[in-house]
Amino acid sequence: MDEVLEQLKDGVRRFQTEVYPERAAMYAQAASEPQRPHTLFITCADSRIDPNEITGTGPGEVFVTRNIGNMVPAYGEMLGGVSAVIEFAVAGLKVKHVAICGHSDCGAMKALLAPESTKSLPSVANWLKNAHAALKVAETVHEKTPEREILSTLTEENVLLQMQHLKTHPSVAGALAQGELTVSGWIYEIGTGHVRIAQDGSRVFVPVG
Ligand SMILES: [Zn+2]
Repeated sequence: MDEVLEQLKDGVRRFQTEVYPERAAMYAQAASEPQRPHTLFITCADSRIDPNEITGTGPGEVFVTRNIGNMVPAYGEMLGGVSAVIEFAVAGLKVKHVAICGHSDCGAMKALLAPESTKSLPSVANWLKNAHAALKVAETVHEKTPEREILSTLTEENVLLQMQHLKTHPSVAGALAQGELTVSGWIYEIGTGHVRIAQDGSRVFVPVG
């Protein structure tokens, strides 16, 4: 017997018997019309992050894409899944907001600081290049202010860098120019539930609360 699959099936059964009945009207409503999410949420694939839970949103509200290190390759670099999601969300679904959410204890950020750890993971090492500019900034900041923890500096700088990359995508640049879209950067602290947000144009992450 596949224990993990059975565990997942148990979860589905609990969803069907306990969760779904309570929210049946909401799911029926969501299924009766095309999705109209207001937000594209780009976050890390880390299994400890639940985008709907931390934003208090339900089905149909948030279009989500996740990858290692919540990265957005600059347009023209690595055209693929992330670029297609952004184009579809912004130009197709017309989301009003894009949030890029990094988090505490991020394995991707740790791997950037310890490149030898990805020696046997060539695809991961290649993907992490999308954050090399953030690594450079974090190292420079760390030289000047060694008391600041380099991991948290890098995590913030990565989110800020990916916000810049996001704006190189034509659909995003167009929507921003029309005033139809806003962008923010988030840091989610897994251990405390705290969220800090940098609104577009600011480099400062302000606690929500
Ligand atoms: Zn992560």
